[in-house]
Amino acid sequence: MNCYAGIDFGGMSVKVGLFDDRANLLTKLSAATSKEDGYAATVEKTVQTVRGACAKAGVPAAQLAAVGMGTPGVIDGENGIVVRWTNYGWEDKPFAADLEKGLGVPVRVTNDANAAALGEAKFGAGKKYKSSILLTLGTGIGSGIVLDGKLFEGTCGGGAEAGHMVIESGGVPCPCGRRGCFEQYASATALIRDTKRAMFENKNSALWRIAGTPENVDGRTAFLAAREGDAAARKVVDTFVQYLADGIANLVALFRPEAILLGGGISGEGEALLAPLRRRVGERLYVDAARIPLALVRAALGNDAGIWGAYALVCG
Ligand SMILES: [Zn+2]
Repeated sequence: MNCYAGIDFGGMSVKVGLFDDRANLLTKLSAATSKEDGYAATVEKTVQTVRGACAKAGVPAAQLAAVGMGTPGVIDGENGIVVRWTNYGWEDKPFAADLEKGLGVPVRVTNDANAAALGEAKFGAGKKYKSSILLTLGTGIGSGIVLDGKLFEGTCGGGAEAGHMVIESGGVPCPCGRRGCFEQYASATALIRDTKRAMFENKNSALWRIAGTPENVDGRTAFLAAREGDAAARKVVDTFVQYLADGIANLVALFRPEAILLGGGISGEGEALLAPLRRRVGERLYVDAARIPLALVRAALGNDAGIWGAYALVCG
């Protein structure tokens, strides 16, 4: 039996899923990562975590056939190179080739958001659909595009960055250097910022009772208060949904996927988010959903989407 490792590499941890060739997840193993470790030690730690996962599952090293990996940054998947990852200060690192040296098997790499999208498309909420786009609403907006079952990464992996589409010209500054990017309005960070602002502007809002203090505001706070009918919270949620709908409608106009999948903590709101979002997206479609169906659903694999997608890179 051949086995495959799917790696979700991140700034805080490296997570390895070990799979057989029938898409059974045999075991998972994680280790902490840190910028301070430096590149060479990080490669070695990743190799050791893959070996550790094999040992944990009782799989001899000789049965490991290939390794897939999702990692942050701009990733040239064809050449296995981390072109740029600003958080770790990495430029042009041959991560795939260095892991191949350590593990003795082929390694394929893509961007972490792409890996999550591929995981959802092949094994999660998107498996009924040929084409789907995953938007993960978190600190920013992670996005991955799967068209006709294949990842669309753009030249040298530089595409599929939906979080940096401008949806408000001259709007909120973004670390990417532009203003008014999608993720400045429709990420969890943006929702939390706007919820706090609404609290300060509305001293009698239920937001105060629910959060206690502004520091306690999270992605659920505005939804909880809106459910109680709080006007300030409803406005925050409605504005958030409008911006999210603008970005989604742009993506639908370009790619017309069969499904948009939403991940990240906010997607846990389920229909409280999805029902108004479907309505708002529907108002913005170039070709309406009665003519060309469009599913708008919650992602299914949660934090494991990355390891499933990394597995799909080498054993689709
Ligand atoms: Zn940006």
